Amino acid sequence: MAKEKSKDFLKEYHKKRDFDRTAEPFGGDRRKSDGRIFVIQKHDASSLHYDFRLEIEGVLKSWAVPKGPTLDPNEKRLAVETEDHPIEYADFEGVIPEDQYGGGTVMVWDAGTYENLKKDDDGKESMSMKEAYENGELTFRLKGKKIKGGFALVKTKMRGKNNWLLIKKKDDEADARRNPVSSQPDSVMSGRSIEEIKKEESGEDED
Ligand code: MN
Repeated sequence: MAKEKSKDFLKEYHKKRDFDRTAEPFGGDRRKSDGRIFVIQKHDASSLHYDFRLEIEGVLKSWAVPKGPTLDPNEKRLAVETEDHPIEYADFEGVIPEDQYGGGTVMVWDAGTYENLKKDDDGKESMSMKEAYENGELTFRLKGKKIKGGFALVKTKMRGKNNWLLIKKKDDEADARRNPVSSQPDSVMSGRSIEEIKKEESGEDED
């Protein structure tokens, strides 16, 4: 029963993929109620982008960030919302066949946990992440290996678009001079570059 429901949660994710062809996780097995993980996956597809994913109520809410995150609070990064991904996707690093949806190489570029920054004066959560998501304005503190500190993710008012903006908050971790996207390009999970993942993970069809 619970599994059926979680599958339904991922309907769009499943519809886009042929799991006989892609090594991406099917999902629906792990479903934490209170998890707070995030992952940023560097995705060398038809155009290179960074997939930013936040665990909210058992799924990874997902946005494609063409330029990746920035630590500069004066820069706003476009983040285009994509379909929910299963929690298991956070550990996925590998190659999606070229003829499949999202074909290309996926790297776990950064990962960690986060904290909801919607809090009242007593430090109690004043709004759940789900409510904040539905309101189109999330604020959270990332605790990754490369990316740390407060961020806002704000839905733009453009109608019919899934466009959000990812903005660094002004705090101790804000730093316009540091650019982890270029200075720390490799996987936080395996230490590999996109080229190394591509070389080692492609052509692994078991037929
Ligand atoms: Mn992607």
